[in-house]
Amino acid sequence: MDSTDTDSDFERLQKLFNAVQAITKVGGWEVDLLNDTLFWTEETYRIHDTTPEEYTPCMANAGDFYAPEWVPVITLAFSNAIEKGTDFNHELELITAKSRRIWVQIYGTVTMSQGKVIKITGAFQDITERKKAEQELWRQGNFDFLTELPNRKMFRYCLEQETKKAHRSAKRVALLFIDLGHFKEINDTVGHDVGDTVIKEAARRLASCVRETDTLARLGGDEFTVIVGELDDYTRAEGIANNLLQKLAEPFHIGDEVAYLTASIGITFYPDDATEVDALLKNADQAMYAAKEQGRNRFQYFTSSMQEVAVARGIIANNLRGALNNNEFRLVYQPIVELASGTIHKAEALIRWYHPTRGLINPVDFIHIAEENGMIIDIGEWVFQQTAQQVARWRALYCADFQISVNTSPVQYHDSDERMAQWFDYLQTLGLPGDAIVAEITEGVLMDTHSEITNKLRALRDVGIQISLDDFGTGYSSLSYLRKFDIDYIKIDRSFVHNLQHESRDMALCDAIIVMAQKLGLKVVAEGIETEEHRNLLTAAGCDYGQGYLFSKPVPPEDFERLFDGG
Ligand code: C2E
Ligand code: MG
Ligand code: MG
Repeated sequence: MDSTDTDSDFERLQKLFNAVQAITKVGGWEVDLLNDTLFWTEETYRIHDTTPEEYTPCMANAGDFYAPEWVPVITLAFSNAIEKGTDFNHELELITAKSRRIWVQIYGTVTMSQGKVIKITGAFQDITERKKAEQELWRQGNFDFLTELPNRKMFRYCLEQETKKAHRSAKRVALLFIDLGHFKEINDTVGHDVGDTVIKEAARRLASCVRETDTLARLGGDEFTVIVGELDDYTRAEGIANNLLQKLAEPFHIGDEVAYLTASIGITFYPDDATEVDALLKNADQAMYAAKEQGRNRFQYFTSSMQEVAVARGIIANNLRGALNNNEFRLVYQPIVELASGTIHKAEALIRWYHPTRGLINPVDFIHIAEENGMIIDIGEWVFQQTAQQVARWRALYCADFQISVNTSPVQYHDSDERMAQWFDYLQTLGLPGDAIVAEITEGVLMDTHSEITNKLRALRDVGIQISLDDFGTGYSSLSYLRKFDIDYIKIDRSFVHNLQHESRDMALCDAIIVMAQKLGLKVVAEGIETEEHRNLLTAAGCDYGQGYLFSKPVPPEDFERLFDGG
């Protein structure tokens, strides 16, 4: 009676144990080294896709189900447990009785008696789902979902590995930084779906130009990199760059659309140019930038002078942040003269930066940097407010219809905040109508098809602020843009005025621009008038306004007021 009771207790416990294991999905097992037996619980059988009827575990076949590459791991774990009494815990793969490949976690702990291991007891758990989730997370964290290429993180890891390998074998690594031109236009004009397809196709073409051992990665947007490892010389990198440029220049056919891309490539070498991953990336980026500045579809090697230029840019960018607060900017004003009468009712405001140690810095040396780091938004706002105050003063003192142009950057039209929308309110607080101010834009603004830009331009016009198209003739100069927006003035770029002579090619161009503008009802301002001859030729051609050193250089407001007094 006693013994049956004990037996049934044991059976009940065994059932309970199995039930708990079934719920937690943890299988148990035990090796009895004294009796040379191996025991599995129900869940362990289930994990192995088998049953006690079909399979009898024993020490001799303990390794049956492990995937071959994991056999050494588990063998070593068992021999360490038996000989040294070490517990173990491993994640490895099994091939079940139904040939399913699964991940399990196997845990084993030893029982000792008189200094010898007599039992190893352990647990088994199917962790396939968790492993899959982990692998998916890893993939998402390291690969670009669109192109399935390595992402920035993976790229960095690969570059590190390649440079270590190159260090050991005394070879070189080339890093190519590829930036696609015109991609933004494609995205803007035909939509993001087509843009995605273009990126995928571009990635495919790039991949076709590199070896399996090279790493092609997408850093984001339209930026790709190629790591070319184990180089003996520099020539292979150039070959790849040429190949890439050629492949990308072929037209992209997407449905009914045909798109064209360009590319700029920067190349740098490990260890010649730098040894650290960040420095290499920066070099390649700088070289790419230099390639872009030379025109599209080019590649450019990194040189140390690029670094100097970049350092100087960095210093300017840093100093720019404090310049507004430190009150280092000033505006100068250049008169815009009505050519037929010689009167001055207009001016252009131009910014100057008086740096505490470097002295005067001209806008060409800092505006593009301010555009890159976004500072131009605050600067542009300051320029507008200063100008508005100035025009209020001059209207009150000298000339009731005075008007000043401010240069605006394309970045200001992208800015998502609504500062430009408040320009009119600001003018009103000064008692000024909208047409006291003209916003000068460049053709880049008109080319952009983002609706926020069009909306902002329209909003300016709606409150009477006039629009002037600056540097006309140097950019895309498309008539369709002129018709799409209500533009009030076009400014002929000074490069056309510079060599102006009777019956020259530039004269023909100026004539054409003036005739076209008159037809479209626009006024024309000629920039850079330096001589009497320039003025006479342009006046005779019917140009409305002129601006240039012949009349006055851009001057501080006090000096400008003397022009009123004198004229
Ligand atoms: P821009 O708007 O085309 O301005 C005309 C430039 O030509 C000015 O250069 C002016 O000083 C110069 N200039 C005027 N008359 C003559 C002349 O007879 N001969 C010659 N050789 N040059 C003449 P500046 O002031 O150095 O400005 C350069 C550019 O910087 C401007 O070109 C404009 O694009 C930009 N800029 C200036 N101020 C601002 C600003 O407040 N905001 C923004 N976003 N850009 C600005
Ligand atoms: Mg201008
Ligand atoms: Mg201009």
